[in-house]
Amino acid sequence: MNSSSASHPLRVAVVGSGPSGLFAVDSLLRTAPQPVGIDVIERLPTPYGLVRYGVAPDHAKIKSVITTFAKTLSDERVRFLGNVAFGRDLTLDAALRFYDAVIFAVGAPNDRALGIPGEDLPGSMSATEFVAWYSGHPDAATREIALHAEAVAVIGAGNVAIDVARILAKHVDELKPTDIPHHVLDALEASHIKDIYLIGRRGPAQAKFTTAELRELGELTNADVILDPADLELDPASAEAVESKQILKRNLDVLRDFAAKPQSGKPRRLHLRFLTSPVEIVGTTAVEALVVERNRLDELENAVGTGAFETIPVQMIFRAVGYRGEPLAGLPFDAKRYVIPNDAGRVLASPGKPLTGAYVAGWIKRGPTGVIGTNKADAAETVRSLLADLPALPRAAEPDPAAVDRFLEARGAHVVAWHNWLEIDAHEIELGREHGRERTKVVAYEALLRRLREAREREARPVS
Ligand SMILES: Cc1cc2nc3c(=O)[nH]c(=O)nc-3n(C[C@H](O)[C@H](O)[C@H](O)COP(=O)(O)OP(=O)(O)OC[C@H]3O[C@@H](n4cnc5c(N)ncnc54)[C@H](O)[C@@H]3O)c2cc1C
Repeated sequence: MNSSSASHPLRVAVVGSGPSGLFAVDSLLRTAPQPVGIDVIERLPTPYGLVRYGVAPDHAKIKSVITTFAKTLSDERVRFLGNVAFGRDLTLDAALRFYDAVIFAVGAPNDRALGIPGEDLPGSMSATEFVAWYSGHPDAATREIALHAEAVAVIGAGNVAIDVARILAKHVDELKPTDIPHHVLDALEASHIKDIYLIGRRGPAQAKFTTAELRELGELTNADVILDPADLELDPASAEAVESKQILKRNLDVLRDFAAKPQSGKPRRLHLRFLTSPVEIVGTTAVEALVVERNRLDELENAVGTGAFETIPVQMIFRAVGYRGEPLAGLPFDAKRYVIPNDAGRVLASPGKPLTGAYVAGWIKRGPTGVIGTNKADAAETVRSLLADLPALPRAAEPDPAAVDRFLEARGAHVVAWHNWLEIDAHEIELGREHGRERTKVVAYEALLRRLREAREREARPVS
């Protein structure tokens, strides 16, 4: 590696093109004191991480942050290298030949298990799988989900659980204007679902819902919300928490409205259950029922079983009890917190000892909490650390972007560049227009990428 006084522009790789990666790019572009060149390395052929593949399709307003992210990726100092996976196509050692620093912003793609018997029965799946399917994630391209169940349970008391319950509760016509792939709309159209149980382990004061998401449930045209007022009785500690926190107070107001509202005979019913834990999934060849136990809260607000059990007949179960990060090749990993250990974004090889040139941002840095905007300050902190370290960082030996391209080509990587993504983007918008929608997501990228390659080859062929 060269000395720190090297004259080339600062070269940074950002691994992951979700919110934290792209906020880090934006922060670098705005605050680096010298010229900078950034490669955004993304395992998928498409940018934007969970904004494209997590945020619910009927939340178009939230997804509109993509317009800002697209501006960042269009900056002439930034290159998008899609379809390139760190670990498979690039290692840290190789990356530090081409870049002065690498920021890992790879998110937390795995789900947490419930750890109860029957969890692996057909019909029981994670929200991660279900969300990937309805969002058209390439990893779920071959996944088929048939909604033959009449009753389903969604386990969890956060916004992801609400998203899943809401998508299941809505009439397909309400979802047609979204970008949901056609095969998913077909499956939703054929849904037999009548009852959806949303099950939270602790009380309403401990639930992680945001008020806007909760309120939306009361506005569903296709489903009544059913909530037993007894579930809203608070123990003294919860009552105190609700008095002192505005968000909890607002949530409780919304929940009390739900409990007071009579059913109006809508086709589907959404049952909200608090202080209820799943203890067993019952079935022989597929899910037939969920056994739950009634809980109470102890003095630390933890859920404790009361020994009162109930069996709810359901044929599908979606668990939405959290996400967790996974280790990246060649990088340290905290297997208890499922994050890459770090100090203000500096990756730590061991306590107090930074791994030279390696940084983290977003969910893999702090765990899977917060909204999209939370990643902005998080990424800015990482960039501040990187820029502060810069004078002492060894500089890349091969800072020329063409050297990365040659390396990836030699590894057999089929890089999807920014202009390729723009072609996919235009194709999705065109597909949508054919059906009167703003966009229809493409799921089978291989075929699309092949078509793009063939078109390029035809254009490049000399006219004889
Ligand atoms: C289902 C769901 C719904 C949500 N809804 C909302 C919402 O409505 N509003 C809101 O504000 N927040 C929402 N969030 C939270 C928000 O999505 C996250 O805060 C945010 O996406 C985290 O950003 P990130 O960049 O850390 O991770 P991600 O968004 O997951 O991005 C990580 C990126 O890294 C890529 N990657 C992973 N491994 C590699 C590798 N080895 N090599 C190269 N690239 C790699 C991934 O493909 C991905 O593109 C939701 C989250 C989920 C799960």
